[in-house]
Amino acid sequence: MASTIKLEIVTPDRVVLSEDVEYVGVPGVMGQFGVLNNHIPFLSALSIGSLYYKKGGGTHYVFVSGGFAEVTGDSITILAESAERAEEIDVERARKAKERAERRLREQRDNIDFNRAKAALMRAIQRINTKERVGM
Ligand code: ATP
Repeated sequence: MASTIKLEIVTPDRVVLSEDVEYVGVPGVMGQFGVLNNHIPFLSALSIGSLYYKKGGGTHYVFVSGGFAEVTGDSITILAESAERAEEIDVERARKAKERAERRLREQRDNIDFNRAKAALMRAIQRINTKERVGM
């Protein structure tokens, strides 16, 4: 039997996921990285994107935004500002958020608005991408 690693994904509101899995692919700020059991301990900031994990022959996707991944020898903990399993993502809501952000970017009143709208746009695009990976 393949050895597993404990994956926990936590946001300020809830525990999104807590499972023993075989492999985790994480969107780090320096690029995507993979984690197996017995990985060396380290800490990485997360980018906005899709995390995926493999378990029992299946691949599962989770949207994550903002926060950190902490890897120890036998666990990986994701502390994110927001996270949803693909099946929890409301794609219509994400499409509306995308349109809103694009409108704000066109209006572009000041830098604060611009940066907030850019981050909101990235979240919306990555939510839609995460959903598309499981065929909607
Ligand atoms: P919106 O403008 O639609 O609220 P947002 O990107 O500003 O989008 P966040 O601040 O990232 O939203 O998240 C706020 C809360 O709403 C979190 O609990 C997050 O999990 C949830 N959430 C946001 N968008 C979606 C979505 N499309 N489907 C499911 N949950 C979502």
